[in-house]
Amino acid sequence: MKVLGIESTAHTLGLGIVTEEEILANQKEMYTPEKGGIHPRKASEHHYQNALNLLHNTEQEAKLEIAEIDAIAFSQGPGIPQCLDIGSIIARKLSQKHDIPLIGVNHCLAHISIGTRTTKANNPTTLYVSGGNSQIIQYRNGKYRVVGETLDIALGNALDKLARKLGHPHPGGPEIEKLANQTDKIVEMSYPVKGMDFSFSGLVTEAQRKINQEKEEIIANSFQEHAYAAIIEALERAMSQEDSKEALLTGGVAMNNRLREMIKKMCEQRGAKAYIPPKEYCMDNGVMIAHQGLLELKNGRSTKIKESDKKPNWRPDQVKATWIKDY
Ligand code: AMP
Ligand code: MG
Repeated sequence: MKVLGIESTAHTLGLGIVTEEEILANQKEMYTPEKGGIHPRKASEHHYQNALNLLHNTEQEAKLEIAEIDAIAFSQGPGIPQCLDIGSIIARKLSQKHDIPLIGVNHCLAHISIGTRTTKANNPTTLYVSGGNSQIIQYRNGKYRVVGETLDIALGNALDKLARKLGHPHPGGPEIEKLANQTDKIVEMSYPVKGMDFSFSGLVTEAQRKINQEKEEIIANSFQEHAYAAIIEALERAMSQEDSKEALLTGGVAMNNRLREMIKKMCEQRGAKAYIPPKEYCMDNGVMIAHQGLLELKNGRSTKIKESDKKPNWRPDQVKATWIKDY
């Protein structure tokens, strides 16, 4: 079975084609705002304008035509409504035109499934940290449970905001990482962990107040150390509660080398294993959507056109995980 996956929840329009054995295509175009954060209308215009070209490149890379595809998967949510609309309209149109099944999938769960496909993780406790989401997710009894999450903004969003305050472009995560790499100095900030939950909004304000008092690399390094230590502590607590021996780190912030180092060290210390997918599958991509669609189709699920409207606030714990064999 060949499945096309369409990702369009936020800044990236991604198209991927997978079979059970192979990844046949992985094409993406990313919207980068000239200034400020992601502008919903401009991001959706970007996706709209790049759609046909990306579809063409995807067919070329996979050496097949869309008519030869067996099913079309798309990110139905959560995400920016205007962006979700573009992915779903492409998916619906192709499904109708070629008379092939359609399946809307949950973006967060697709991050986990591509993580278990591309690493040796089996039933990990997942730390999913991206621009719009920050959650600790664990599969238990038919569902992926959100056992910890941000109480305000996502970690990626916090990094983007801080970078902006420091005068650096979007996306801010890599900018903060570059700055942080220039120093070992840390100034004390609050430590935003509450059990298995965390929050970053206050930490951004606190870091912002230090501008003009401390060098920007010290602010960046201190922010990273406090924010990353807090989520790793929350993750360790979740692993302990769930009696878990595996952690999976995914989402765009999983590209951060310091965070990767911290999760590995924490797992090593508790006799567990840390898994991190290749960077191209940590960030948003169409391959993970195609793979998630494939898993669910094999278990008999598909989406009718009238059920295919966007779900901007769709939580991973609202999905019955029928594709998982119980552990
Ligand atoms: P996603 O929403 O999963 O595509 O991830 C995008 C987020 O990842 C943005 O907030 C970026 O700032 C963040 N990000 C990308 N690369 C890095 C990095 N090296 N360190 C920290 N955050 C990053
Ligand atoms: Mg994502």
